[in-house]
Parts: sequence; structure tokens; C-alpha cells
Amino acid sequence: MTNVTLVTGDGIGPEIAEATRRCIDATDAGINWDIAEAGVDVMERTGTPLPEVTLEMIKRDGVALKAPITTPVGTGFRSINVHLRQTLDLYACLRPCKSYEGVRSKYKDIDLVIVRENTEDCYAGVEFERGKDDTAELINWVNKHSEKQVRQDSGITIKPISVMGTERIVRFAFDYARKMGRKKVTSVHKANIMKYTDGLWLDVSREVAKNYTDIEFEDRIVDNMCMQLIQKPELYDVIVLPNLYGDILSDLCAGLVGGLGVAPGANIGEKGAIFEATHGSAPKYKGQNKVNPVALILSGVLMLRHLEKIAEADKLENAVATVIAEGKSVTYDMKPNRDDPTAVGTSEMADAIIEKIKSA
Ligand code: NAD
Repeated sequence: MTNVTLVTGDGIGPEIAEATRRCIDATDAGINWDIAEAGVDVMERTGTPLPEVTLEMIKRDGVALKAPITTPVGTGFRSINVHLRQTLDLYACLRPCKSYEGVRSKYKDIDLVIVRENTEDCYAGVEFERGKDDTAELINWVNKHSEKQVRQDSGITIKPISVMGTERIVRFAFDYARKMGRKKVTSVHKANIMKYTDGLWLDVSREVAKNYTDIEFEDRIVDNMCMQLIQKPELYDVIVLPNLYGDILSDLCAGLVGGLGVAPGANIGEKGAIFEATHGSAPKYKGQNKVNPVALILSGVLMLRHLEKIAEADKLENAVATVIAEGKSVTYDMKPNRDDPTAVGTSEMADAIIEKIKSA
């Protein structure tokens, strides 16, 4: 048996976590679930949205499947998700974007993987507020040492991009491409403007690529990349990006394949991996057995592949794809008309997927 922490989350979290657990168990993947809590519900009882026992369990198991968590306001936690990523140094955010027949989308046959750096760039949290003494000190230093002048009434966000941080994420992208039999890695940047950050990113990307001669490598400037993804997404395969561009292009690519309901994800590091849907806790649907469990189930597919349970992952993905393509036992958001009375609930959609697994 393989131990996996199941973080049930809050809002719609517990419903989709249960649906996903049942679907994964139906593949006979041999998962032993350690159930853990996080989010606003457990905070009401224990005073913290991320109990130490949950963090310890994830560290011990090394792999977690996590349902969405509401970001509580005013607790000192900017976001539990960010906290988890930082504590466990989950430096790679993986977002496959794949077309499934039956999902409404303007595009067909998309099969892209976004690999986003998770720890650096403008999201590193190094910020200086307008009007503060430290900020004035920094601005004066910059104005003394640079030809360019920063206005005194500026707020400042620092964008660190390191050799170490770039090397490990680009290597991750190539290793992932090799493991998954993919053909090409595209490194995205704005090196023509930000020479010392994105320029470094590009130089390091090129260096790392030399070690992977079996996989094609190319680079693209981020604005051009956005246009190309809209015009000819079929040209791309694995795309590796710094944090900020990765955040934006992940959503762009999720949009290409039909949106949040079918967008799985993972945050992966040396110390562990957390698999989770891209969407949030949708609190207004809590407890209604209404929302689409597919994004978390497909995150479970990624998890099974990460655990090298390839046959089980394929079985689960095929079952999901069949149920979506049939369009019968699907939740309201997958029906052409969202008020369609034939839409089924979260747990009934899971039942339909399990039936396909069992009859495969
Ligand atoms: P959301 O993703 O929860 O909801 C956005 C929209 O999508 C809503 O209309 C919602 O009803 C719909 N939706 C989301 N998931 C769906 C599903 N599975 N099936 C059908 N419809 C679905 O985003 P939000 O409203 O901005 O955020 C709500 C809370 O979730 C916030 O506290 C936010 O911080 C948190 N959040 C958590 C995570 C995470 O845990 N990884 C990610 C994003 C947002």
C-alpha cells in the first residue's frame, strides 16, 4: 500500500475529495489514505487553518491529494496554499491542459503542459510599500546607483530570478518531458527587456537544454507566446515559465480547454508533492452535491502517474474521458444548458466514472 494524505479542505472540498477518493480506490491503486484537515472549518474548532498534524502527515507521506481551501481573512496566513508551497519548497507547479471530447471549448486536440516556477520572481513576496522609510531608503540607493530614476512616490516589488531556481525548474520540465514521452520544451521569458532576470532565465534554460539532446528546445518571448497559444496551440508541448508568466499562461491554457472544471494541477518539490484542482472552494455550492469533481479527479490521475501507477492512472483518465464524452452523467456545468434538469450531482458523476472503471 502507498500512503497518501487526503486533505479534505473546506467549501466544496469534502464533497469532491470523497468523490475522488472513491474513483481512485476503484482503480485498485493500493492507496492507504491518511485523512487530514485544513481550512476554515478546522480553524473554527482549533484556531488554525493548517493544523501541525496535517503538515506533519504531508511531510511523512510525501504525497498529498488536496481539495480546495478558502483563504481565511485576517489570520496571519496570507494563503494556506502559499504557506504549504513555501514550507515544503514545492518549487514546480504542473498544469496539464488537455482537450476532452464533450467539454465545451473553442479549441480541439489541445495537449499542453505548463511548468511554472513557484518560489521566485515578483511572487517571492519581497515588497516595499509606498511612503515607508525603508522604501525611501531603497529608492535613494537605486537612484544613486542606477542611471534610471525611480519616483519617490513608488511602491516596489522585487523580482529575484536565481541560477539555482531556474536550473531546477528547467531541469524539472525536461525530466517531465522525457518521462512522459513528450517531444519539446519551450522556455518563456522577456529577456529582451529584463536582461538580468529574464536574461539569466534564458541563459540557464539554454545551458540545461544541452543536457537533453533527445528533446527539442526553443524559447519564446512571453507576449508572442500568448498570441501563438491562441493562434496555433498545437505547436507547443511542455512550456516552462517563471512564476508570474506561469500564473497568467496557466489560466490562458485552462481557458483553451474549457476552464476551471477540468483543470488539474500539482505542486512538486524534492520533499513532497501536492496534487490539487486549479479551482477554489466555491463556498456558495458547499454541501449541495452539485459541483464538478473532474478537476480533482484528474489531479488524482497526475498523482497516480507521479506514483508510477501508470495503468491505474490510464484507467481513471479513460473513464473520466468516456463519461464526459457521453455527456449524460455529468454535473450542471458540463451540460449545454446550465439549468438542464438531467444534470447529476458530484457523487453521481463519481458513480458513473467508477462504473466505467469497473466495466473496462
Ligand atoms: P473558485 O474557483 O472557488 O470559484 C470560481 C467560480 O467557479 C465560481 O463561480 C464557482 O462556483 C465555480 N467553480 C469552482 N469550482 C467548480 C467546480 N468544481 N464545479 C463547478 N463550478 C465550479 O474561486 P473563488 O470564488 O475566487 O475562490 C473561493 C475561495 O477559494 C477563495 O477563498 C480562494 O482564496 C480559494 N481558492 C483556493 C484554491 C486552492 O485551494 N488551491 C485555489 C483558488 C482559490
